[in-house]
Amino acid sequence: MRAFDYEALPGRVIFGSGASRERLGDELDRLNAQRVMVFATDRELALAEELVAPFRDRVALVYGNVLPHVPAEVATDARAAAREHTVDALLSIGGGSTTGTAKIVALTTALPVVAVPTTYAGSEMTPVWGMTTDARKETGIDRKVLPVSVVYDPELVQTLPRELAVSSALNAMAHCVEALWTPKANPVTSLQALDGAAALARGLRATDSSTSCSELLYGAYLAGAAFAVAGSGLHHKICHALGGGFNLPHAETHAVVLPHVLAFNESSEAISDEMTRLAEALSGSSASQALASLYDEVGAPRALSQVGLKEEHLEEAADIVVAKLPIDNPRQVDRARIEDILRNAYEGIL
Ligand code: NAD
Repeated sequence: MRAFDYEALPGRVIFGSGASRERLGDELDRLNAQRVMVFATDRELALAEELVAPFRDRVALVYGNVLPHVPAEVATDARAAAREHTVDALLSIGGGSTTGTAKIVALTTALPVVAVPTTYAGSEMTPVWGMTTDARKETGIDRKVLPVSVVYDPELVQTLPRELAVSSALNAMAHCVEALWTPKANPVTSLQALDGAAALARGLRATDSSTSCSELLYGAYLAGAAFAVAGSGLHHKICHALGGGFNLPHAETHAVVLPHVLAFNESSEAISDEMTRLAEALSGSSASQALASLYDEVGAPRALSQVGLKEEHLEEAADIVVAKLPIDNPRQVDRARIEDILRNAYEGIL
């Protein structure tokens, strides 16, 4: 057994079908929250109103100005709204963009966040915040933004269109895979990552919707938990550069980039044991073969050119990633490698 450090993160997790309708009020009671700021996009607004109906008198405002990658202007506006309404708790109902907006308010107010995720992005498990200023995404780590309670309800992800569910689940898969090779990975995060990857693969292959949603949401929880402690590496740095710099869709970008970073890292001796265990978790002869089969089966997105990147952006994208070098990675990374990964991901050629 290798030596390791493990800094476990706090937080309550409630998982179950119907939990968002039955348990949310109790979570706010635990915080003694009387003036709650609810975050939801227009799309999630009706759902949010339904979930908060039993404690509507404790909702100070419903904030709907949620945009991908949390633009700095949105952060300023949301913080001003929280001050103006003297809120005492933040309740996010939605995907990673919604959770991210609640987190950016928590960063400066230290208000507690309760999160009800409706995608598989996993932000609700992490102390990571993100904000985009002038097309550059900045991220940071602060315990203040880590939700105190997370209510996972598989019924809420039933409405995800299949294409988005696939991409979002592969975004979670990317958390699992990268959590296996970061410097902060430890045996516990690896267990979570491997079990998460297996649950995500089962969920993606399941034909029954309720089984699929449960497995995917459970896998997304484990993925977020592993990623929260193990941290991010080359894969996430490339995706952040693409998301923040060119406004590409988050989940699809992760789904496209993952097989390319995996193909690059897989041959590293330093992670051979982890890659063998990942291949087993995904039921394949090698990790990348297993992932490729899964991608074929579920019709995953394959090329950055199909998700909005223009060829003339490749050089600028490489510049943004290169500016983050040196990147801790099982194999040494330089500009040429980054350019190869971006070009291959752009064309969808493995
Ligand atoms: P998103 O929150 O932008 O949601 C994508 C789309 O799906 C939106 O149009 C949304 O309205 C819709 N949607 C959400 N739930 C739905 C449902 N149940 N049914 C139907 N439609 C639904 O995207 P995302 O992929 O969830 O999150 C991406 C954002 O999260 C990015 O900004 C990313 O950086 C951030 N993120 C942060 C962390 C972190 O640790 N800080 C981790 C993962 C992701």
